[in-house]
Amino acid sequence: MAVSCIARDITESIKAKEILRLSNIYNRSLIEASLDPLVTIGHDGKITDLNTSMEYVTGYSRDELIGTDLTNYFTEPEKAREGYQEAFKEGFVSDYILEILHRNGSTTPVLFNASVFKDESGEVIGVFAAARDITERKKAEEKIQILASAVESSNDAIGTMSLSGIIASWNKGAEQVYGYSEEDILGKSVSTVAPPHLVKETIKLIELIKQGEKIHQHDTLRERKDGKIINVSITLSPVFDIHGRLTAISFISRDITERKRYEEKLRESEKKYRNIVETANEGILVIDEETRVIFANKKLAEMLGYTLEEGLGRPVWDFISEESKAIFKLNQEKRRQGIDESYELKLICKDGSSLWAITSAKSLFDDDGKFMGSLSMLTDITERKKTEEILKLKLEELARSNAELEQFAYVSSHDLQEPLRMVASYLQLLQRRYEGKLDDKADKYIHFSVEGAFRMQNLINDLLELSRVTTRAREPEPTDCELLLNQALSNLELYIKENKASVSHDPLPEVMADYTQLFQVFQNLIINGIKFHGKEAPRIHISVEKKASEWVFSVQDNGIGIDPQYSEKIFEVFKRLHKKEEYPGTGIGLAICKKIVERHGGRIWVESELGYGSTFYFALPISPGDFQKSTFSVNSNFSAKI
Ligand code: ADP
Repeated sequence: MAVSCIARDITESIKAKEILRLSNIYNRSLIEASLDPLVTIGHDGKITDLNTSMEYVTGYSRDELIGTDLTNYFTEPEKAREGYQEAFKEGFVSDYILEILHRNGSTTPVLFNASVFKDESGEVIGVFAAARDITERKKAEEKIQILASAVESSNDAIGTMSLSGIIASWNKGAEQVYGYSEEDILGKSVSTVAPPHLVKETIKLIELIKQGEKIHQHDTLRERKDGKIINVSITLSPVFDIHGRLTAISFISRDITERKRYEEKLRESEKKYRNIVETANEGILVIDEETRVIFANKKLAEMLGYTLEEGLGRPVWDFISEESKAIFKLNQEKRRQGIDESYELKLICKDGSSLWAITSAKSLFDDDGKFMGSLSMLTDITERKKTEEILKLKLEELARSNAELEQFAYVSSHDLQEPLRMVASYLQLLQRRYEGKLDDKADKYIHFSVEGAFRMQNLINDLLELSRVTTRAREPEPTDCELLLNQALSNLELYIKENKASVSHDPLPEVMADYTQLFQVFQNLIINGIKFHGKEAPRIHISVEKKASEWVFSVQDNGIGIDPQYSEKIFEVFKRLHKKEEYPGTGIGLAICKKIVERHGGRIWVESELGYGSTFYFALPISPGDFQKSTFSVNSNFSAKI
């Protein structure tokens, strides 16, 4: 029995041990299965046990952790020490915030709960600590913090109200927008900020939210604390509790007074521009990038004889004449490149007639620089075009008749020379043979006839010279005026000497000119300066001045001068201010000068006063671009006779 008793005791003890072993295994697996890092430490703060989560959160293995100081694994070791010391002292510590430091430097915010554990005798042998990862909670808290500061720093009025419209929260933005502080307004009705006539609307908006609608950017008026009425854009949203029940209403209102004012201004200016566009005397056309008409004003519709409805949306090509299509296409390309220019377009009206318009076009691009089309102002220039056309025809006619006249002058003067020479020589023969043999009257008649014939010869020679300005014209070439003048002076040497004249000149430039003709101009002007001298010996001075685009030559004399009223007349053919007995001449010299200078693209004029000498000026273009090519090409029959 005693044996059996002992045997039973042993069996019981074995059973108890087995139970303990199983229970340990069970506890261990529970500890290991926990997602929370668990750790035990002794009085010295050294780790005595831990679970896998603790290894995971620190990055160290169990073997590395056991026996080391627990405080090593926190960002704030001191705080950690204080924590476990408190646990030893008080028996427990709860919700103690710490940050576990991973071996790679990363951190995990945790909430520690720790309590002491004792041996069988009841003596405290260590602290058991369990940490809870609060990263998510921290993140959520931060998010709330950010949201809260966003709300606080917003310039918009943000807040909440109860379902009966009692204001429950009010941010800084709301204080600014409405002028009420949080203290002023919390607990008051939202209609406090509504102008009296809009109180009902405020209540209606709340009702709509309750019915499940959303109020998004509703523009209305509100009254500030200082009584000022402002424009606001309000968004109201329902606020639900975790059970999905509507508990409050949030509001965001933005002060849009400035925007409204700006919009109003914009509307006004748009109206103004629309008025300008509609009352403009020019046609205004906007086409898109595919050359479709997207806008036209009344004037344009009128110009083309269409109604606006008929024109809008149509390809602009429908209104452009065949002959202008190429230039329009070219210009469209320029618009795409952002080049704005004016050009002439021939348009086709509804009745088939055509209209010429000068078109000033402007390219249109969107904010991203994409080509959107163009805007054009069209001015009707049909009348001007007609006049230009007539003028062109008239000019052509004039040039033709001028050419004919020149031909006539040339042919007649050239062909008259021969018979005249015959008349003159026979008259001279008569004079020589019969002078003094007939009576006095006959002598006188013969004398007059000879003189007349000579004068006529001179006239015809000069006329021929005049027509040769065009018939014998040569292309302009670099001409050294200094050289040219010296040659003219040596040509006139005898004449200068006979008249006791002196001719001086400034340094002269090289110009583009027909040498022979410019020679003629200088010679004619110098001869005149000497010929029309007064009592004093003639003094001629030639100078030149370089202007922006021309050389201005001057030939100054100290002669009898010219009454300014004749300063233009004297350049006409045969126009003379004196009798041939006073001063010989035919009155063609200056006409020749004028014709030559004008042929060179220049001009000639005189400045003078009777009795005080004259200065003849002539200007020649520096660049020979304006040089007029001879329009008179001599008929081969005539040129053969030259
Ligand atoms: P012409 O010398 O043969 O008379 P021009 O055509 O050269 O013809 O000149 C026309 C007229 O202009 C002259 O008859 C003269 O009356 C006036 N005239 C021209 N040059 C001068 C001058 N340097 N001084 C005064 N009068 C001049």
